[in-house]
Amino acid sequence: MQVSWAAATHPGSRRLTNEDAYGANPELGLFLVADGMGGHAAGEVASRVAVESVTAFVEQTAGDRHHTWPIPYEITLSPAANRLKAAFVLANRRVASEIHQNESYAGMATTAVAVLVDGNTVVAAHAGDSRVYQLQGDRLRQLTRDHSWVAEQVQAGLLTADAAREHPWRNVVTRALTGGPELDPEITTPSVEVGDRLLLCSDGLSGVVSHDEIRALLAPPASLDEVCRRLVDRANEGGGPDNITVLAIQIDVA
Ligand code: CA
Repeated sequence: MQVSWAAATHPGSRRLTNEDAYGANPELGLFLVADGMGGHAAGEVASRVAVESVTAFVEQTAGDRHHTWPIPYEITLSPAANRLKAAFVLANRRVASEIHQNESYAGMATTAVAVLVDGNTVVAAHAGDSRVYQLQGDRLRQLTRDHSWVAEQVQAGLLTADAAREHPWRNVVTRALTGGPELDPEITTPSVEVGDRLLLCSDGLSGVVSHDEIRALLAPPASLDEVCRRLVDRANEGGGPDNITVLAIQIDVA
């Protein structure tokens, strides 16, 4: 499978620093977005560590797709899903070791969402409320389920989606790379077709720009660069309360 991609990141309109990070490595087929949390610039460290650590593991295992050591290989998952899952678990351990080595990093954490294009399959992994969307034809689907307090309340029928957007706890994530005990990233295996577009983003986009607006802005004929620029602009027009990161991928050849 061959893909093209573009990305943009912006601090937003109200924050001075940008604690989001992204990585794109088309040779590895790896694309990721991380949204760091924690004061005193530590959020920036957490998101960068996640991107570097996941990338390093996927790179190391490029020649041996069944390699997940020291994380157990799960026979029910594809090789790509196993690699990505192991990469996330090891990245969480890296966050733990950074915190252990530097006390000013205490309390830092990061979400992470990644897409790995492996041969003719695409696999996504995530922890937290950073998302992957898939645009197929004129249909936009959110592939990831937010690991957030409000999303869990919506799922349980205790909160409406509109109320969740405004809720004071809308930024509380229930799963993230905190350096805590074993991380359990969620794996999604979308079926993709030539022409599909995938969008990875932090909640600085999805918290402000609606599903319908994302569908309209992600659609061709706009180039991926234009898509990224317009999505960031739209989030800033919506107040830009948080750091905004978008990474758009298009499936060019199956
Ligand atoms: Ca954020």
